[in-house]
Amino acid sequence: MQQDKISTVKNYAELFQRALQDSDINLLKSIPKSDLHNHAPLGSRLSDLENEVGQKISPPPSTLTDINEMDAYIMANLREHIFSSKGLETSVRLAFRQAKTDGVHKLEMSVDCMFLNFFEDSEVGFIKLLQQIHQEEAAEIQYNPEIGFSRNIGIDNAERLIYPCIESGFFKSIDLYGDELFRDAKHYVPFYKAAKNYGLKLKSHAGEFGTADSVRYTVETLELDEVQHGIAASSSHEVMKWLRNNNIRLNVCPSSNVVLGRVANLRTHPARILADQGIMITINSDDIMIFNQSVSDEYMNLFQSKLFSANELNIIRENGLK
Ligand SMILES: [Zn+2]
Repeated sequence: MQQDKISTVKNYAELFQRALQDSDINLLKSIPKSDLHNHAPLGSRLSDLENEVGQKISPPPSTLTDINEMDAYIMANLREHIFSSKGLETSVRLAFRQAKTDGVHKLEMSVDCMFLNFFEDSEVGFIKLLQQIHQEEAAEIQYNPEIGFSRNIGIDNAERLIYPCIESGFFKSIDLYGDELFRDAKHYVPFYKAAKNYGLKLKSHAGEFGTADSVRYTVETLELDEVQHGIAASSSHEVMKWLRNNNIRLNVCPSSNVVLGRVANLRTHPARILADQGIMITINSDDIMIFNQSVSDEYMNLFQSKLFSANELNIIRENGLK
């Protein structure tokens, strides 16, 4: 039995590398992968949402200056399709279908706590819906529900919405995002302490727009297990050494970084520097509806841009599944 498992892992490793070398995206999609940095309402292709709602939606700009510009696009074009209990249901269904199509076996998909506002029975109905969609669309995927919240929402709102989710026992991790320069991480310590007490994995966006020092500061302040992005750490050997020594994994989203202007192109993406310094990284999609790149696309792009070899990408893939 153990022998079978070892040969399956070895087969996947060989097939994954062959798929990259042959530019075979369909073969690549069939190999197990993880997506550990994925925001549910934006987890499918825009074309899938268009088909579902039966209308054309203006595509996002090919480059965005910051999160505010991205939020403005979402509010102007996606809001009516996403920001309701029905919209959440539609977009989460599409996100699970997308993950399944892409061969994602392990999915840490965040859903924003503000969606609780659309449910009369608050977290109960919200959680029931997520469970139901997972079972109906992709029960075979290892889905680790993540509760997300933005730095831009008021602390009062966060208190009202986050604690019931933490205490529900349903969510396996927590993630803080939005404008990382907006409010100091120390304001979120009580939420992270509660999440830790309930055994959630602690994640936060940091070092996407901030500095290397802000990555370390956020990890230390919130006692993070993993960082979403964290690419700014690549500018400091000291911070990279610290991340490595503390086994802090970075869940990197290369296309997101390029579209948002954090990185000039994939050939020069700092994931290379981070990996060379022995930091564990994973490759993820972030917001497929905005960046139009699935996890399989990301692996293919990184290989074709020669940032990593097929073997290196396979090691990254395997790390994500551990
Ligand atoms: Zn993100």
